[in-house]
This record gives sequence, structure tokens and C-alpha cells, in this order.
Amino acid sequence: MQLPIQTYLADLYQRLFPLQEGELASYIPELTRANPDWFGLCIVTMDGFAYTEGDWGQPFTIQSVSKPFVYALALADRGVDEVMAKVGVEPSGDAFNSISLDPQTGAPRNPMINAGAIASTSLVAGATSTQQWQRLQATLSAFAGHELALDEAVYHSESETGFRNRAIAWMLRNFGITEGDPMPSLENYFRQCSLLVDCRDLAYMAATLANGGIHPLSGQRCMPAEHVERVLSVMATCGMYDYAGSWLYEVGMPAKSGVGGGILAVLPGRFGIGVFSPRLDDKGNSVRGIAACKQIAHDFGLNIFNHT
Ligand code: GLU
Repeated sequence: MQLPIQTYLADLYQRLFPLQEGELASYIPELTRANPDWFGLCIVTMDGFAYTEGDWGQPFTIQSVSKPFVYALALADRGVDEVMAKVGVEPSGDAFNSISLDPQTGAPRNPMINAGAIASTSLVAGATSTQQWQRLQATLSAFAGHELALDEAVYHSESETGFRNRAIAWMLRNFGITEGDPMPSLENYFRQCSLLVDCRDLAYMAATLANGGIHPLSGQRCMPAEHVERVLSVMATCGMYDYAGSWLYEVGMPAKSGVGGGILAVLPGRFGIGVFSPRLDDKGNSVRGIAACKQIAHDFGLNIFNHT
């Protein structure tokens, strides 16, 4: 017998598969090798059950969906005061890769734009950048519930072509947001973006946030409970590139997307959603991913501002 959520996901897949709009990310050649038709859906409930549909097992690089988890790690390792002094929590209205810092403080405006994400990566605990990387990889893996591998080709390509991110890293160094040589932390940022996930991993990562920081299957605490609301708040206001306001208006769930085509959305206390489809709109969000989340939020009345 098919479970109701399973039937619902199968129907949603059929309804949204015909959406062919959008383009693959092309700033590095590796991302253009994705099959534009890939489409995966997954919902993980608080008892750890995963409902999957379509290409849910297709690996892709996590890209910017890594940012909230690294921000969580920076909060855990450095505490709120130190992190808040270096990375703000205001939506920027600027492009994700803009070289923009708050003119008053010199700090990046939020941890979901590259400047704030690179600063967060540099705040992760570790005596060396290698140890910092091991901690990053272990933490993101704990959120997913198994060890996440690095896509070496994507990592090298990100590193070879990431001149803009290099400029951002040096700006952060110039304003004293980071200390020492900023390049090793930048390499860790490129690596975190190049971790391989599938959309079920994203749904488990989202479910772990929905579950107060505890992975619903492994039972492992992946971040301190006191920081979960902070991470979800910045996801709600800054997680969807320049679509963040419309997203909150129309979908109403904390979420994060990445140029690999992944979107992760969280309904606190209820479940985590992972969607993967690599065709992106002009804001960098997966076209089918947005459509799927809109439909799920509408059909189940999930907008966090819904009073019923
Ligand atoms: N590696 C990408 C960058 O920093 C991440 C892009 C994204 O997913 O927003 O440019």
C-alpha cells in the first residue's frame, strides 16, 4: 500500500516534471554536465522516515546549501557575540557574490552571501586549516547522517576560477574580519561547496534542523539547540538569494538553495524537505525546486505565518 505522502510526492513529480524553464549553472564546466531533466524530491519526518521520489539518489554538489550549517558550526565554536561582531544578520538585497560589506562595521551583511559564508568558514575551530576542514566535513556529514565525499573535479574548478571569491576573502582580511592568510579558509569554502549530496541528504539535513539540531535517525546532536533558531532565522530572511522576500511571502519556510540545483526547506518540529533539479532561474534558484516547495506549502498549509 502506498502511503499518502508517497502518493502525493509521486503526483507532484508528474505535475512538475514538464517544467523545462531555466538554465544549468555554467560558471564552471563541471556543472554544465548535469542532466537538466534530473528531478528528485524527498520529505523526512521527525521519526526519521524518508519519503522519496524521482532522482532522489542522484549526487550533486551542495554549493551554497552548505552555508547555514557552517554558520551553525561557527556559532557553536565561537559563540554568538564573536560571530555577530564579524557577520551580520541583515538581508543584503545584493547578489550572493557581491563584494559588499556593512559600511559601518566592515562586516558581511549575513552568512548566506559569499562574504559572510567565507567569514563563517574561517571561524570554524581548528589549529590548522586541515583540522578546520576535517571539522567542517564531519559536521556536514553528521547533519546528513553519513560521510559526505568531496567532488574533486568541482573543487579544483571552483578554486581555479574563483577570482571573485578571492577578492572577497582579501576584503575580509583588509577589514580585520579574518586574520592571517585568508587563502586556506577560502580553499575550505570551495571544498564545502564541493561536497556531494543527494536530495535525501538535504531532507535529512533539513529534518535535523527541524528536530532542534538532533539527527532524527542517528540521534546525534549536530549543533547546540540554542543556535537552531538563529540559523533558521537567517535562512528565512536571506536563504534564497534575491528571491528571499518573495519566498517568505509565498512559501513561508526557512530554506537555502544552491547553484547545484538543490533546495532544502525546514518546517520546525514537523519535517525537512529536499528538492533537486538543476535548471536555475535568473536568481540562481532551481525552477522546479521553487515550484515544488510552493506547491507543498500551499497544499499542506505550511507557511509558518499560517494561523490555522
Ligand atoms: N561555489 C559557489 C560560489 O561561491 C557557490 C554558489 C552558490 O551555490 O550560490 O560562487
